[in-house]
Amino acid sequence: MTKKILPTTVVGSYPKPKWLNQLIGEHAEGKISDEIMERAYQDSIKAVIKEHELAGVDILWDGEMRREEMTSYFAEHIDGFKIYGEVRVWGNNYYKKPAIVDELGYRDELTIPDYKFLRKITKNEIKVPITGAYTIVDWSFNEFYKTKEDAIYALSEVINEELKGLVRSGVNYIQIDDPAISTHPDEIEIAKNSIEIATRGVNAYLGIHICYGDYSQLYPQVLEFPVDQLDFEFTNKNFRDIEIFKEYEFTKDIGFGCVDVHTKRVESVEEIKDNIRKAFAIVEPKGVYVDPDCGLKLLSSGVAFEKLVNMCQAAEELREEV
Ligand SMILES: [Zn+2]
Repeated sequence: MTKKILPTTVVGSYPKPKWLNQLIGEHAEGKISDEIMERAYQDSIKAVIKEHELAGVDILWDGEMRREEMTSYFAEHIDGFKIYGEVRVWGNNYYKKPAIVDELGYRDELTIPDYKFLRKITKNEIKVPITGAYTIVDWSFNEFYKTKEDAIYALSEVINEELKGLVRSGVNYIQIDDPAISTHPDEIEIAKNSIEIATRGVNAYLGIHICYGDYSQLYPQVLEFPVDQLDFEFTNKNFRDIEIFKEYEFTKDIGFGCVDVHTKRVESVEEIKDNIRKAFAIVEPKGVYVDPDCGLKLLSSGVAFEKLVNMCQAAEELREEV
Protein backbone atom coordinates (compact mmCIF):
# COMPACT_ATOMS: atom_id res chain seq x y z
CA MET A 1 0.00 0.00 0.00
CA THR A 2 0.84 3.64 0.13
CA LYS A 3 4.28 4.59 1.47
CA LYS A 4 3.12 8.06 2.47
CA ILE A 5 2.81 8.62 6.19
CA LEU A 6 -0.67 9.64 7.47
CA PRO A 7 -2.38 9.04 4.13
CA THR A 8 -5.79 10.67 3.84
CA THR A 9 -8.84 8.87 2.54
CA VAL A 10 -12.64 8.86 2.63
CA VAL A 11 -14.91 6.22 4.09
CA GLY A 12 -17.12 6.19 1.01
CA SER A 13 -20.25 8.25 0.42
CA TYR A 14 -20.33 11.94 -0.49
CA PRO A 15 -23.27 14.34 -0.96
CA LYS A 16 -24.98 13.88 -4.30
CA PRO A 17 -25.38 17.07 -6.36
CA LYS A 18 -28.98 18.35 -6.44
CA TRP A 19 -29.09 17.99 -10.20
CA LEU A 20 -28.17 14.32 -9.91
CA ASN A 21 -30.97 13.64 -7.43
CA GLN A 22 -33.38 15.38 -9.75
CA LEU A 23 -32.24 13.28 -12.72
CA ILE A 24 -32.47 10.06 -10.67
CA GLY A 25 -36.09 10.94 -9.91
CA GLU A 26 -36.87 11.73 -13.54
CA HIS A 27 -35.15 8.56 -14.70
CA ALA A 28 -37.26 6.50 -12.28
CA GLU A 29 -40.35 8.08 -13.85
CA GLY A 30 -39.13 7.18 -17.32
CA LYS A 31 -38.66 10.79 -18.34
CA ILE A 32 -35.01 10.44 -19.32
CA SER A 33 -33.12 7.64 -21.02
CA ASP A 34 -30.69 5.15 -19.48
CA GLU A 35 -28.01 6.67 -21.64
CA ILE A 36 -28.45 10.16 -20.24
CA MET A 37 -28.67 8.77 -16.71
CA GLU A 38 -25.42 6.88 -17.18
CA ARG A 39 -23.73 10.03 -18.46
CA ALA A 40 -25.04 11.92 -15.43
CA TYR A 41 -23.56 9.36 -13.03
CA GLN A 42 -20.22 9.55 -14.81
CA ASP A 43 -20.19 13.35 -14.73
CA SER A 44 -21.10 13.45 -11.05
CA ILE A 45 -18.28 11.01 -10.24
CA LYS A 46 -15.82 13.15 -12.18
CA ALA A 47 -16.93 16.15 -10.12
CA VAL A 48 -16.48 14.23 -6.85
CA ILE A 49 -13.02 13.08 -7.83
CA LYS A 50 -12.01 16.61 -8.81
CA GLU A 51 -13.20 17.93 -5.44
CA HIS A 52 -11.41 15.23 -3.51
CA GLU A 53 -8.20 15.77 -5.44
CA LEU A 54 -8.48 19.52 -4.83
CA ALA A 55 -8.98 18.89 -1.12
CA GLY A 56 -5.84 16.75 -1.18
CA VAL A 57 -7.31 13.31 -0.47
CA ASP A 58 -4.67 10.67 -1.23
CA ILE A 59 -6.77 7.51 -1.56
CA LEU A 60 -10.01 8.05 -3.45
CA TRP A 61 -13.41 6.52 -4.00
CA ASP A 62 -16.25 7.74 -6.20
CA GLY A 63 -18.53 9.18 -3.52
CA GLU A 64 -21.00 6.33 -4.12
CA MET A 65 -23.03 8.44 -6.52
CA ARG A 66 -24.71 5.29 -7.82
CA ARG A 67 -25.61 3.88 -4.41
CA GLU A 68 -28.87 4.88 -2.81
CA GLU A 69 -28.03 2.91 0.31
CA MET A 70 -25.71 0.05 1.20
CA THR A 71 -27.84 -3.10 1.28
CA SER A 72 -30.36 -3.46 -1.54
CA TYR A 73 -27.90 -1.77 -3.93
CA PHE A 74 -25.83 -4.96 -3.74
CA ALA A 75 -28.67 -7.42 -3.10
CA GLU A 76 -30.34 -6.45 -6.39
CA HIS A 77 -27.34 -7.85 -8.24
CA ILE A 78 -26.99 -11.13 -6.32
CA ASP A 79 -28.94 -14.30 -7.15
CA GLY A 80 -31.33 -15.42 -4.41
CA PHE A 81 -32.47 -11.96 -3.30
CA LYS A 82 -35.85 -10.39 -3.86
CA ILE A 83 -36.43 -6.73 -3.01
CA TYR A 84 -39.57 -5.89 -1.10
CA GLY A 85 -41.10 -2.45 -0.93
CA GLU A 86 -39.77 0.22 1.33
CA VAL A 87 -39.67 -0.29 5.09
CA ARG A 88 -39.32 2.40 7.67
CA VAL A 89 -36.03 2.29 9.56
CA TRP A 90 -35.87 5.42 11.66
CA GLY A 91 -37.78 8.67 11.72
CA ASN A 92 -39.06 9.21 8.23
CA ASN A 93 -36.27 7.31 6.53
CA TYR A 94 -37.17 4.33 4.42
CA TYR A 95 -35.18 1.72 2.59
CA LYS A 96 -35.95 -1.15 0.28
CA LYS A 97 -35.46 -4.22 2.42
CA PRO A 98 -34.12 -7.26 0.57
CA ALA A 99 -35.24 -10.81 1.30
CA ILE A 100 -33.28 -14.00 0.73
CA VAL A 101 -35.72 -16.30 -1.06
CA ASP A 102 -33.38 -18.77 -2.76
CA GLU A 103 -29.81 -20.02 -2.75
CA LEU A 104 -27.41 -17.08 -2.93
CA GLY A 105 -25.07 -16.95 -5.88
CA TYR A 106 -22.72 -14.60 -7.70
CA ARG A 107 -24.39 -13.04 -10.73
CA ASP A 108 -23.26 -9.51 -11.60
CA GLU A 109 -20.08 -7.64 -10.88
CA LEU A 110 -20.88 -5.37 -7.94
CA THR A 111 -18.13 -2.77 -7.75
CA ILE A 112 -15.69 -3.79 -10.49
CA PRO A 113 -17.13 -1.52 -13.22
CA ASP A 114 -17.08 1.45 -10.82
CA TYR A 115 -13.42 0.77 -10.07
CA LYS A 116 -12.55 0.50 -13.76
CA PHE A 117 -14.23 3.82 -14.50
CA LEU A 118 -12.45 5.50 -11.62
CA ARG A 119 -9.09 4.09 -12.72
CA LYS A 120 -9.52 5.98 -15.99
CA ILE A 121 -10.16 9.36 -14.40
CA THR A 122 -7.62 9.63 -11.58
CA LYS A 123 -3.97 8.84 -11.04
CA ASN A 124 -4.39 8.70 -7.25
CA GLU A 125 -4.60 5.49 -5.28
CA ILE A 126 -8.07 4.01 -5.03
CA LYS A 127 -9.90 2.18 -2.25
CA VAL A 128 -13.02 0.15 -3.02
CA PRO A 129 -15.64 -0.03 -0.24
CA ILE A 130 -18.19 -2.84 -0.28
CA THR A 131 -20.84 -3.80 2.26
CA GLY A 132 -19.97 -6.94 4.21
CA ALA A 133 -22.04 -10.11 4.09
CA TYR A 134 -22.79 -9.88 7.80
CA THR A 135 -24.44 -6.48 7.46
CA ILE A 136 -26.36 -7.29 4.26
CA VAL A 137 -27.89 -10.39 5.87
CA ASP A 138 -28.55 -8.62 9.16
CA TRP A 139 -30.53 -5.96 7.29
CA SER A 140 -32.44 -8.44 5.12
CA PHE A 141 -35.21 -10.96 5.68
CA ASN A 142 -34.04 -14.58 5.60
CA GLU A 143 -36.76 -16.76 4.10
CA PHE A 144 -34.54 -19.49 2.70
CA TYR A 145 -31.64 -20.56 4.93
CA LYS A 146 -32.21 -22.46 8.15
CA THR A 147 -30.20 -19.99 10.16
CA LYS A 148 -28.91 -16.45 9.82
CA GLU A 149 -25.41 -17.92 10.16
CA ASP A 150 -25.89 -20.14 7.09
CA ALA A 151 -27.12 -17.16 5.08
CA ILE A 152 -24.12 -15.06 6.14
CA TYR A 153 -21.63 -17.73 5.10
CA ALA A 154 -23.34 -18.27 1.75
CA LEU A 155 -23.27 -14.55 1.04
CA SER A 156 -19.64 -14.35 2.17
CA GLU A 157 -18.77 -16.75 -0.68
CA VAL A 158 -20.46 -14.34 -3.12
CA ILE A 159 -18.53 -11.40 -1.72
CA ASN A 160 -15.35 -13.47 -1.98
CA GLU A 161 -15.95 -13.90 -5.74
CA GLU A 162 -16.31 -10.13 -6.09
CA LEU A 163 -13.19 -9.34 -4.05
CA LYS A 164 -11.11 -11.77 -6.10
CA GLY A 165 -12.48 -10.13 -9.24
CA LEU A 166 -11.50 -6.71 -7.91
CA VAL A 167 -7.93 -7.87 -7.33
CA ARG A 168 -7.78 -9.34 -10.84
CA SER A 169 -8.87 -5.91 -12.09
CA GLY A 170 -5.94 -4.25 -10.33
CA VAL A 171 -7.44 -3.20 -6.98
CA ASN A 172 -5.01 -3.28 -4.06
CA TYR A 173 -7.07 -1.70 -1.26
CA ILE A 174 -10.54 -2.92 -0.27
CA GLN A 175 -12.70 -1.76 2.62
CA ILE A 176 -15.49 -3.96 3.95
CA ASP A 177 -18.27 -1.85 5.49
CA ASP A 178 -19.83 -3.83 8.30
CA PRO A 179 -21.63 -1.45 10.67
CA ALA A 180 -24.09 -4.14 11.82
CA ILE A 181 -21.30 -6.02 13.59
CA SER A 182 -21.27 -3.50 16.40
CA THR A 183 -24.99 -4.01 17.03
CA HIS A 184 -24.66 -7.76 17.75
CA PRO A 185 -21.48 -8.31 19.75
CA ASP A 186 -22.74 -11.78 20.68
CA GLU A 187 -22.30 -12.76 17.01
CA ILE A 188 -18.72 -11.58 16.63
CA GLU A 189 -17.48 -15.12 15.96
CA ILE A 190 -19.91 -15.41 13.04
CA ALA A 191 -18.80 -12.00 11.78
CA LYS A 192 -15.16 -13.10 11.96
CA ASN A 193 -15.89 -16.31 10.04
CA SER A 194 -17.74 -14.24 7.46
CA ILE A 195 -14.72 -11.98 6.92
CA GLU A 196 -12.47 -15.04 6.71
CA ILE A 197 -14.59 -16.53 3.92
CA ALA A 198 -14.98 -13.20 2.09
CA THR A 199 -11.24 -12.45 2.12
CA ARG A 200 -9.89 -15.94 1.44
CA GLY A 201 -7.29 -15.76 -1.34
CA VAL A 202 -7.80 -12.01 -1.73
CA ASN A 203 -4.36 -10.51 -2.18
CA ALA A 204 -4.94 -6.85 -1.28
CA TYR A 205 -4.66 -4.47 1.63
CA LEU A 206 -7.90 -5.04 3.56
CA GLY A 207 -9.74 -2.79 5.95
CA ILE A 208 -13.01 -3.13 7.81
CA HIS A 209 -15.15 -0.12 8.66
CA ILE A 210 -17.37 -0.44 11.71
CA CYS A 211 -19.18 2.65 12.88
CA TYR A 212 -21.51 3.23 15.84
CA GLY A 213 -22.08 0.78 18.64
CA ASP A 214 -20.03 -0.03 21.67
CA TYR A 215 -16.47 -0.92 20.64
CA SER A 216 -15.70 -2.29 24.10
CA GLN A 217 -17.94 -5.23 23.14
CA LEU A 218 -15.81 -5.95 20.05
CA TYR A 219 -12.35 -5.34 21.37
CA PRO A 220 -9.93 -7.11 21.51
CA GLN A 221 -11.73 -9.96 19.62
CA VAL A 222 -11.86 -7.84 16.43
CA LEU A 223 -8.03 -7.99 16.28
CA GLU A 224 -8.43 -11.61 15.16
CA PHE A 225 -10.23 -10.58 11.96
CA PRO A 226 -8.01 -11.29 8.92
CA VAL A 227 -7.70 -7.64 7.84
CA ASP A 228 -4.85 -5.14 7.82
CA GLN A 229 -6.80 -2.16 9.09
CA LEU A 230 -9.64 -1.43 11.48
CA ASP A 231 -11.49 1.77 10.58
CA PHE A 232 -13.53 3.33 13.39
CA GLU A 233 -15.33 6.55 14.19
CA PHE A 234 -13.81 8.53 17.05
CA THR A 235 -14.78 12.18 16.75
CA ASN A 236 -18.54 11.81 17.21
CA LYS A 237 -17.85 9.87 20.41
CA ASN A 238 -15.48 12.54 21.60
CA PHE A 239 -12.53 10.08 21.52
CA ARG A 240 -13.61 8.31 24.70
CA ASP A 241 -13.09 4.93 22.96
CA ILE A 242 -9.33 5.55 22.86
CA GLU A 243 -9.16 4.08 26.35
CA ILE A 244 -10.74 0.80 25.16
CA PHE A 245 -8.04 0.33 22.52
CA LYS A 246 -5.21 1.10 24.92
CA GLU A 247 -6.01 -1.95 27.02
CA TYR A 248 -4.59 -4.44 24.52
CA GLU A 249 -1.86 -3.86 21.96
CA PHE A 250 -3.51 -2.64 18.76
CA THR A 251 -1.92 -5.00 16.24
CA LYS A 252 -3.48 -3.54 13.06
CA ASP A 253 -3.29 -0.27 11.19
CA ILE A 254 -6.05 2.10 12.19
CA GLY A 255 -8.43 4.10 10.03
CA PHE A 256 -8.88 7.01 12.37
CA GLY A 257 -12.14 8.96 12.11
CA CYS A 258 -10.96 12.48 12.92
CA VAL A 259 -13.85 14.53 11.49
CA ASP A 260 -17.46 14.34 12.68
CA VAL A 261 -19.94 13.56 9.90
CA HIS A 262 -22.96 14.36 12.08
CA THR A 263 -22.29 18.04 12.59
CA LYS A 264 -22.32 20.90 10.12
CA ARG A 265 -19.60 22.67 12.06
CA VAL A 266 -16.34 22.51 10.11
CA GLU A 267 -13.51 21.55 12.44
CA SER A 268 -10.45 23.79 12.20
CA VAL A 269 -7.09 22.49 10.99
CA GLU A 270 -5.64 22.84 14.50
CA GLU A 271 -8.55 20.93 16.01
CA ILE A 272 -8.19 18.09 13.52
CA LYS A 273 -4.44 17.94 14.14
CA ASP A 274 -5.20 17.48 17.84
CA ASN A 275 -7.71 14.79 16.96
CA ILE A 276 -5.23 12.87 14.81
CA ARG A 277 -2.54 13.10 17.50
CA LYS A 278 -4.87 11.11 19.76
CA ALA A 279 -4.44 8.13 17.42
CA PHE A 280 -0.75 7.96 18.31
CA ALA A 281 -1.72 6.76 21.78
CA ILE A 282 -2.91 3.55 20.12
CA VAL A 283 -0.81 3.10 16.98
CA GLU A 284 2.52 4.43 15.66
CA PRO A 285 2.04 7.22 13.09
CA LYS A 286 3.05 4.86 10.25
CA GLY A 287 -0.04 2.75 10.98
CA VAL A 288 -2.53 5.64 10.94
CA TYR A 289 -4.87 6.35 8.02
CA VAL A 290 -6.65 9.69 8.29
CA ASP A 291 -10.34 9.80 7.37
CA PRO A 292 -13.75 11.12 8.47
CA ASP A 293 -15.80 9.07 10.98
CA CYS A 294 -18.03 7.71 8.23
CA GLY A 295 -19.41 8.64 4.80
CA LEU A 296 -20.10 12.36 4.33
CA LYS A 297 -23.32 12.02 2.35
CA LEU A 298 -25.69 13.56 4.89
CA LEU A 299 -23.84 16.88 4.90
CA SER A 300 -24.24 19.64 2.33
CA SER A 301 -21.58 19.38 -0.35
CA GLY A 302 -20.00 22.69 0.69
CA VAL A 303 -19.54 21.55 4.27
CA ALA A 304 -18.32 18.10 3.25
CA PHE A 305 -15.71 19.68 0.98
CA GLU A 306 -14.49 22.11 3.64
CA LYS A 307 -14.14 19.29 6.15
CA LEU A 308 -11.99 17.32 3.69
CA VAL A 309 -9.85 20.38 2.91
CA ASN A 310 -9.11 20.94 6.61
CA MET A 311 -8.57 17.24 7.28
CA CYS A 312 -5.99 16.98 4.49
CA GLN A 313 -4.28 20.19 5.57
CA ALA A 314 -4.08 18.86 9.13
CA ALA A 315 -2.51 15.60 7.95
CA GLU A 316 -0.07 17.54 5.76
CA GLU A 317 1.09 19.70 8.66
CA LEU A 318 1.37 16.71 11.00
CA ARG A 319 3.62 14.86 8.54
CA GLU A 320 6.26 17.50 9.25
CA GLU A 321 6.05 16.75 12.96
CA VAL A 322 6.05 12.96 13.14
ZN1 LIG B 1 -19.92 4.25 8.77
